[in-house]
Amino acid sequence: MRLAVAAALATLALAASSAAPVADAQPAPTPVAAPAGDAVDPRIVFPPSVQQGAMVIGKVPAGASVRYGERTLRATPYGSVVFGIGREQTAPVEVDVMAADGRSQRVSIVVLPRDWPIEQINGVPPKTVNPPPEIAERIRREQALVTAARDRDDERADFAQAFVWPVRGRISGRFGNQRVYNGQPGSAHSGMDIAAATGTPVLAPAAGVVTFAAPDLYLTGGTLLLDHGHGISSNFLHLSRIDVKVGDRIVQGQVLGAVGATGRATGPHLHWGMNWFDVRIDPLLVLERGDAVRAGAK
Ligand SMILES: [Zn+2]
Repeated sequence: MRLAVAAALATLALAASSAAPVADAQPAPTPVAAPAGDAVDPRIVFPPSVQQGAMVIGKVPAGASVRYGERTLRATPYGSVVFGIGREQTAPVEVDVMAADGRSQRVSIVVLPRDWPIEQINGVPPKTVNPPPEIAERIRREQALVTAARDRDDERADFAQAFVWPVRGRISGRFGNQRVYNGQPGSAHSGMDIAAATGTPVLAPAAGVVTFAAPDLYLTGGTLLLDHGHGISSNFLHLSRIDVKVGDRIVQGQVLGAVGATGRATGPHLHWGMNWFDVRIDPLLVLERGDAVRAGAK
């Protein structure tokens, strides 16, 4: 309940402040507090707080260098930067902005904790819960290919678009839930599941470039990765059909393939995951930001 209220408030805050053009729309441009005795640079804008699993978009002056964690963040020509907050993140995160004139400012962002319910998934094919040893090597190899496809820092700023649902349907599995497969604890759910019939077209939630496409991986079945730039990517799993190929430039709303139940699945659904490099983020929060941007643009 607390989460729902916080999310609603965050959405309102976004809606109230998102009058910028959608081309590079900014969420919640609340100026951050500067260290005592230092003037606030009004050109540096980050949200004061974010939820676990959030995609965070900030604004910095042209020519600034931005450090977050181990990475230097790429900035768009509009001065937008993006990064992801992991499910396990609890401490405030810090971003260092070094302006072109050499002045630096540290931004601290509070991370709001969420509840992660336990979810029982029964009826999963046993060979996908406890893969036989000869399959383990295949799974490792396939996961390495997917990981490599995500390690890409492209200058396109498709991530700044207002995302749309790739298919419409009931949410049958939420990001971050602690999963128990056939009674055996598994890893946290890495994306959101949307229930839909096999063959339902899967649309690109935002523009991007196809960086990976395989019809039948062991765990994830028909698997497609779409890169939205600056380390942000989407993955679509269990597809029955893939209609695009690696290297294709995709526009928002374009058909990518179709819903299926391939790989480790108990029935037809779309699993949509999102990443900032290797950090998994929650697509539902990205959709809520899209709603807020569209509401503000009206
Ligand atoms: Zn899933």
